[in-house]
Amino acid sequence: MEPLFNPPLHRQRHQFVVDFVKRNKPPKVLDLGCSECSLMKRLKFHREVHLLVGLDIDGTKVKKKMRALAPVSTDYLQPSYDQLCVELYEGSVTERDARLRGFDLVTSIELIEHLTLADVERFSEVVFGYMTPAAVIVSTPNCEYNPLLPGLRGFRHSDHKFEWSRAEFKSWALKACSEFGYEVEFTGVGQPASGYQESVGFCSQIGVFRRLERGDDSNALGGDDAEDVFSYKLLYSINYPSLCDNNILRRVLGSEVLYWAEKLKSRWMEKKSGEVNASCAPIETEEEGEEKHTACREEMRNVVSQCESGASEDQEEEDEGVRWTRFQRRQDSCTSLRCVSVPLDVLWSCCPRVSTLSGSLGNLRRLLMDDPDVELSQDGDAVLVNCHEQDLEEEEAQDELEDSGYEPASRHHSAAAEQEEDWEESV
Ligand code: SAM
Repeated sequence: MEPLFNPPLHRQRHQFVVDFVKRNKPPKVLDLGCSECSLMKRLKFHREVHLLVGLDIDGTKVKKKMRALAPVSTDYLQPSYDQLCVELYEGSVTERDARLRGFDLVTSIELIEHLTLADVERFSEVVFGYMTPAAVIVSTPNCEYNPLLPGLRGFRHSDHKFEWSRAEFKSWALKACSEFGYEVEFTGVGQPASGYQESVGFCSQIGVFRRLERGDDSNALGGDDAEDVFSYKLLYSINYPSLCDNNILRRVLGSEVLYWAEKLKSRWMEKKSGEVNASCAPIETEEEGEEKHTACREEMRNVVSQCESGASEDQEEEDEGVRWTRFQRRQDSCTSLRCVSVPLDVLWSCCPRVSTLSGSLGNLRRLLMDDPDVELSQDGDAVLVNCHEQDLEEEEAQDELEDSGYEPASRHHSAAAEQEEDWEESV
């Protein structure tokens, strides 16, 4: 059968919530009767939502599709500063649980009609009186619309315990408002054909409740022991990778620094060995503007010319630019490796993502000092990139490069994929 509404009614209900979220930007959102998490899947894309929680009495139904709420590979490969934690619980809206208090928005989409009238009263106490969210969206069928639904006899679903008229819904909603200190606006989705609006109303009626700010919390049913109530079972919990997490920031920055240090080193070595033509082709970047690009090219030319004017392979003296140096690994006092030293200030000014991620040169140094994959010079002012005798076979050089812990630029992404595994394990 053709859907009666376009878009289908369930989509219109979810769109109503999404539009509310876009306008009001609630950081903490709870979906009651979340079922197979389809509304949550849409809400997870809203950066203003930092905590997204679902509750349903039917854990099996929730588990069916809950993995679709997990981060995808790009969330790991290119984490942003946004933060998102997703949690799913099995439990009844008629029971209290302290973890679900204090949300900015609670949604109850086509849920209350599945409760007995006695449980609807408990729902009011738990949601408005105990959870006390700033806003609540409740949708439920409007039975006045039913005569317009072709072939419908009885309720719209066999599990429905009631279907209310607009007056019945209004009476319940206004009672909850006066008991628990809320105000409500009535609206809905699923418009009837023109001419019917006044007489039947929307197919799904919606109440948007907002908590009145009284300051005294006099209507809340929390009580002193509120923190102790944990009646729901946690089914799923995941933190999305975010650059606000220092460990993730350090890994992303470290891998970016290694990528750029290698790039600058190769550039310098090519230049040195005269393999690059004098015009010095631009260094490719993904995000930088033309201005930075030019500055970077200039900087590299300076670096290269400084190095050309006297750096020899054993030179250890101070030099502002990229240069040869020798480096003794802490764990290996016998071997001294031939390295290229790439100054942090060159990296910072040449590589937009490095400067954006670190914020300042001082931060960059501090974050890299704690990164076991990045070798810094003794004074901490340069990244040391392991190097090889130029006449070595390429394969041998590659082996050594791998021994040094360095990830070649072309394998930048596989390094991130490894991170993905690690992060998956840590959550
Ligand atoms: N909200 C979902 C949506 O918009 O896609 C659909 C809701 S479905 C019609 C009703 C859901 O309420 C079911 O998943 C059911 O398991 C759940 N439910 C019924 N009684 C409940 C209760 N006491 N506490 C929590 N969830 C309940």
